[in-house]
Amino acid sequence: TERLKAGLSKTRDKLGKQLATLFGGGKIDEDLYEELETVLLTADMGVDATNHLLKDVRDRVSLGGLKDASELKGTLKASLGELIGPLEVPLDTAGKKPFVIMMVGVNGAGKTTSIGKLAKYFQSQGKSVLLAAGDTFRAAAREQLMAWGERNNVTVIAQQSGDAAAVCYDAIQAATARGIDIVLADTAGRLPTQLHLMEEIKKVKRVIQKAIPDGPHEVMLVLDANIGQNAINQVIAFDDALGLTGLVLTKLDGTAKGGVIAAIAKQRPVPLRFIGVGESIDDLRPFQAGPYIDALFD
Ligand code: GDP
Repeated sequence: TERLKAGLSKTRDKLGKQLATLFGGGKIDEDLYEELETVLLTADMGVDATNHLLKDVRDRVSLGGLKDASELKGTLKASLGELIGPLEVPLDTAGKKPFVIMMVGVNGAGKTTSIGKLAKYFQSQGKSVLLAAGDTFRAAAREQLMAWGERNNVTVIAQQSGDAAAVCYDAIQAATARGIDIVLADTAGRLPTQLHLMEEIKKVKRVIQKAIPDGPHEVMLVLDANIGQNAINQVIAFDDALGLTGLVLTKLDGTAKGGVIAAIAKQRPVPLRFIGVGESIDDLRPFQAGPYIDALFD
């Protein structure tokens, strides 16, 4: 859709336009492959995904007996679709009540904003939502979430004391008692290198497991697309520590690094549940590989 295209305009300008020039016509030769490599790398696809795509495109070219560069656009789209398609796994909250989502990530990634957008997203599907103000490091984060909850008629469970695990435990008990559908648990921002904070978040997960059978049902890492290749390190570190089940990639509207999705798919394919392509509420949308690729190329 036009909205998605607009949201992805920076990556689209860089990747899409360079490819359009490259695939304008002419012979398919080594120079062209070299330029293609550069274009993919500059869109932050990373070395592994770029090599994978180049090899796949070469295979398709020789298999299909392709001769003209104009035939490469469809070829690359198909290769990319096969690579990032597996990341498209919509979040299914059916069958658990409450369905408990634990949100993690570094400071400023867009965690709190995404929680608000997700709360609205679930409400629009007729589901009831409860928020756990588990970012107990920043009093402001708690206040922000509580004020947001008040404005939007969403219950927020918070504590003055500083224990994130206890807040999440209380929130799950309250949600169970009230028959709430979805619990969104905020947690404090942390870097994977802050080992004591990584231990703390593991404890939060263990306590959630005590509060609800087979919970948390989703451990979701919020990533800022602006960090490009660094996103991979974050995915790997948080996945190793917590066992991630989903990703949110925010701020794709502000960056030309939209190719990072290919890098994630190649190096640590955790389902990409939602992408953020703007500030407004419908700008957090379920990730769909096909429309994403079309928005970049067409
Ligand atoms: P947190 O520290 O992870 O909770 O981050 P916040 O939720 O406070 O977000 C940090 C900033 O990023 C805020 O100014 C948000 O408005 C902004 N932000 C979050 N998601 C998006 C997005 O998809 N697009 C844009 N343009 N800004 C975003």
